[in-house]
Amino acid sequence: MKNTPVIEIADMHMIFPGVHALKGVSFDLYAGEVHALVGENGAGKSTLIKILSGVYQRSRGKYLINGKEAKICHPLDAIKEGISVIYQELNLVSSLSAAENIFFGRLPAKGGRVQWKKLYDESRKYMEMVGLSISPRTKVQYLSIAEQQLVEIAKSLSLGAKIIIMDEPTSALSPKEVESLFKIIAQLKEKGVSIIYISHKLDEIFEIADRITVFKDGAVVGTKYPEELNEEQLIEMMVGRKMEDIFPDRNANLGEVLLDVKGLTTEKVTDISFHVRRGEIVGFSGLMGAGRTEMTMALLGMDKRLEGSVVLDGKEIPPNSPLIARESGMGLVVEDRRKGGILPNMSVKSNMTIVSLNQVTKGISISRTGEEDVVRDMIQRLKIKTPTMNQLIPKLSGGNQQKVLLARWLMKRNLKVLVIDEPTRGIDVGAKAEIYSLMNDLAGQGLAIIMVSSELPEILGMCDRVYVMKSGKITGEFNREEASEAALLEKAIH
Ligand code: ADP
Ligand code: MG
Repeated sequence: MKNTPVIEIADMHMIFPGVHALKGVSFDLYAGEVHALVGENGAGKSTLIKILSGVYQRSRGKYLINGKEAKICHPLDAIKEGISVIYQELNLVSSLSAAENIFFGRLPAKGGRVQWKKLYDESRKYMEMVGLSISPRTKVQYLSIAEQQLVEIAKSLSLGAKIIIMDEPTSALSPKEVESLFKIIAQLKEKGVSIIYISHKLDEIFEIADRITVFKDGAVVGTKYPEELNEEQLIEMMVGRKMEDIFPDRNANLGEVLLDVKGLTTEKVTDISFHVRRGEIVGFSGLMGAGRTEMTMALLGMDKRLEGSVVLDGKEIPPNSPLIARESGMGLVVEDRRKGGILPNMSVKSNMTIVSLNQVTKGISISRTGEEDVVRDMIQRLKIKTPTMNQLIPKLSGGNQQKVLLARWLMKRNLKVLVIDEPTRGIDVGAKAEIYSLMNDLAGQGLAIIMVSSELPEILGMCDRVYVMKSGKITGEFNREEASEAALLEKAIH
C-alpha cells in the first residue's frame, strides 16, 4: 500500500451549532482495501461519511481524492468521483423493478421511449457482479432485505463506484446472507473497489477488515491492522477503558429469599426449581433454545403452568395470571425489544409510564405534572439520551430504548423481582457498561434480579449465582467463585 491513497483526510473538523463532531480527524483508504470504522454511538462515524459523500461540508481540513483536492459540494459530486454510500435504510423505490432502481433517473431511452431490453441486459450485467440471480424485472418490494442491498450495490457499480461506504450493512441479514455479502465484498476488492465498513459487530470486522480505525468523541483513537490486536483490546480503544471496568464491582449484600420456585413445569420447561435472594443477581445461562425465555414466561404466568409453585416474598403466586404476577411485584424486560417490548408509535414518556399509570393517578384524573416529574427524574437517573420525553421511542439508540424499558419497571412502586432477558443484545459497549452499573445499583437497593443471557462474559461479570439450562431443564448451578466459561458450557452442552 505505498501508492497514493484513493482517499486521504487530515485534520478534518466538523462543527455543528453547539457540537464539535469531528476534532482533527485523519484517515486514509487505499484501492482494494476494506477499512472498518468503529466507535460508540455519537463518536462521529456517520458525520465523516456524510462529509465524504457530500451530504455535509467540512468546517475545515484536508480532503484528497486520488491525491487531488476533493471538490465535493453535493452528493452528486461524490457520485461523479466514484463514491457511493449504502445506508442502513435502503434508498430504493419499492414499486419499481430492480432494473429501474439500478438505472433510476438514467433509463436508456431512444426517441423518448425506454429501451427495456437494453435496460434489462445492462442491469443483469451488474446484478451478476453482485451474485444476484433474480429477474431484473422483479419489483423491489418482493425482494428480501439482503437482495435489496445487493440491488443497491449493483446500482453503485453501474454508477462507476470505486469507493463504497457501507453503514451497518449486516444489521438485518441472516448469517447465511452475511456470508454471501462477504463474498461479494471480496470480489469487489479484487476489482480494486475500496470499502469503508461501519459496524458494531466486532467479529465481522476481524473477519473482513484490512485495517480498523477507531473513533471516540469525534477523534481518531488509532488505526490498526486486525493482526495487531484482539477483540478485547479493540473494545478498550472504543470505550477508553479496560474491559474489566465494564463490569461494576459486585459487593452483593444478600438478604432473605425473595423468590422461591419449585418444580415449575409447562409444556416447554420441566421441573424448574430455583431461588433468588433480595439484592442478588442470578443468571440463567445456556444455548439458544435451552428454554430460558420459556422459563421466564412460566414464571410470569404467561405460559400455562402444569405443575409447581412460585412463592414471592412469602406469598403464593397463582398460575396463569400475568396480572397477579405483575401486581405482586414481578417485572420483565423481554428479549426482543421490538417485539413485545417497546410500544413503537409512542413517546418515551408513554413507554415508561405504561405499567405504572395507576400510581400517578390522583383521584380520577391523571396528574400530568406528577407523571412528568417522575419521567424527567428517570431520564436523568438512567442518563437516557433523548431531546425530550415526548420523542418517539424508535428514534432512540438501542441502548437508550433498553434504559426506557428498565425505567418502565423501576417506576413501579412495589417491584421486587426484575427479570431481564438478554439485557444488552444489540447495544453498543458504552451503553452496556451503563446498563450493568444500573443493574448493580438496583440489586444494591434490594431488588432481586434474574438475568437471562447468552453472553458468557456478562454472566460471569455480573451474576452472584448462575443456573444453566438445557432442553427445558436446569442442568447445573454455580456460585460466583465456581463459575467459569468452561464449567457453564459443559453443563449447557453435556
Ligand atoms: P456516529 O455515527 O459515530 O454514531 P455521528 O457522526 O452520528 O456519530 O455523531 C457525532 C456527533 O455529532 C454526535 O454528538 C451527534 O449528536 C452530532 N451530530 C451529528 N449530526 C448532527 C447535526 N446534523 N447537527 C448537530 N449535531 C450533529
Ligand atoms: Mg452513525
